This record gives sequence, C-alpha cells and structure tokens, in this order.
Amino acid sequence: MYINLSGLNILVTGASRGIGKAIATKLAEAGATIAVHYNKNAREAENLIHVLGNESKAYQADLSRKGEAGKLFERVILELGSIDILINNAGIAKPARLEAPEDEWLKIWDEVIQVNLNSTAVLCKKAIEYFLKKKMAGRIINIASRAAFKGDQAEYMAYAASKAGVVSITKTIASAYGKNGIKAFSIAPGFVKTDMAKAFIDQYGEQHTSSDLSLERMTEPKDLAPLVTFIASGMADHSTGANFDINAGSYMH
Ligand code: NAP
Repeated sequence: MYINLSGLNILVTGASRGIGKAIATKLAEAGATIAVHYNKNAREAENLIHVLGNESKAYQADLSRKGEAGKLFERVILELGSIDILINNAGIAKPARLEAPEDEWLKIWDEVIQVNLNSTAVLCKKAIEYFLKKKMAGRIINIASRAAFKGDQAEYMAYAASKAGVVSITKTIASAYGKNGIKAFSIAPGFVKTDMAKAFIDQYGEQHTSSDLSLERMTEPKDLAPLVTFIASGMADHSTGANFDINAGSYMH
C-alpha cells in the first residue's frame, strides 16, 4: 500500500536510536518532515537528519527534567511552523531493587515516571492545546509496552506503572477530544531488539526474552515502523483510543 505523508510535520521523541529511529526513517520515506528529538546522542540524531535528506531537524531535550517537554514542543512549532502528529517514543527502563532504601528506590521511580509518563503527558497536553487552537485533526501515537498489561519484574515496577499510565492517558484523549478531530493511539511492544532490551538480556539472559515468542524471532524496530506509518496516515482513525500489541505473539489478551 502506498502511503503519502508529504506536507506533514511529525515530532518523534527518542528518535536518535532504536524504535524511534526506525519510526522516523519510515515516516520520512513516506514524505513526512520529522522533528528528530534526542537527549544525549546528538551525533546519531544529526546523522539521521543527514540520511533523511529532507527538511527534518534535530532537537535536544532531557525529558527527565521538568519543563523540558513543553519547551521542546514550542521550539519545534517555532522552527518547523507546525506539528501535525506527535509520537511519544522516548523512554527509559531503569531497575530499582525492592530491597533498596526507600529514598534510593523512589529516586529511580521518579525518574522513570518523569521521562515515560510526565513528559509524555505534558507533550500530549501541549499537542491537544495546539490542535484545538488551530482546529487541526491531529494524531497522537504513544509507545507504551506489553508491561502495561502483563506487569514486569519487581525491579521494573515503575516502568510497568508508567506504561499503564501512558495507555490510560491515550484512552482519555481519544474519548475526550474525538469530537474535536483529535485521535490518539498506543502501541505496546514486547521485547524489541534495541539497547534497552540488551540491558535486560544482559541481566536476565536471552532465554527470558525469547522463550514466550510465538514467532521465530524477536521483534525488531523495523517491525513497528509500518504500523506507526499506517496509523499516521489516518487509515486507522476509527480505532482511536485503541492499543496495538506488537509482541511476536508472546502475550495475547
Ligand atoms: P532505546 O534504544 O534505549 O532508545 C531510547 C531513546 O529515548 C533514545 O533516543 C534516547 O535518546 C531517548 N531517551 C532516553 N532517555 C531520555 C531522556 N532522559 N530524555 C529524552 N530522551 C531520552 O529504547 P527503545 O528500545 O528504542 O525504546 C523506545 C520506546 O519503546 C520506549 O518508550 C520504550 O519504553 C518502548 N519499549 C521498548 C521495548 C524494548 O524491548 N526495546 C519494549 C517495549 C516498549 P538519546 O539516545 O539521544 O539519549
């Protein structure tokens, strides 16, 4: 199927690596201009801009810091002129041992919630306000996780909770703003071959990440990008509020 996204500006957070990079690449191939957000990997983000070869631009923001998400949105609007689609993909999975002292445990909890949930929520808020003001039929795509539904290892309690929050805000946006033309979707990947999964594999072993797969291999970032592009095109608009599982058949619910 030919998908044409030319004329659309799309903010993809965490696009310097992994899933976000694959999503940004596929969207640009379909003609979209991408605001490639990154935190530490400026070089990767700039390389990607070079490869995309269109009007796309790179934007730095540390989403673990309060106030950065809102500023990022404003900067993209100022420089690209508009945002038609917001893709909240940036995320961290930091483990915290339950046996750790409460202040240490809470520090990690706060950081994970700040990056994965608070910054996602602020970006959603900014996008909704912008779409309403401009009377735009905008779309929001939030990358959640299978952990939102299935739970996770005890050390990743904050991660699972943050992603359940992401699924929940997605549904609220879809139901509250559908009549205004705003659509929201979440995507829940199982393990995906990226740096994030590598850290988990190093800790728990490959067996842990692949023993429950129905398909023959672990999901890769390229397996997510086509669905995101399809949703971005508007062809899935009547699924607004839905969560799409991409987990190689490892968890069906
Ligand atoms: P990744 O390879 O670790 O990449 C993470 C991305 O998020 C990078 O672009 C990174 O930017 C950005 N990021 C990290 N900390 C940030 C911060 N403090 N402020 C702003 N940006 C920050 O992760 P991934 O596997 O592609 O994951 C992408 C999304 O999919 C995440 O939301 C993750 O929770 C979700 N997910 C992943 C898996 C999996 O198995 N991989 C499974 C389910 C869901 P820099 O590199 O520039 O610092």
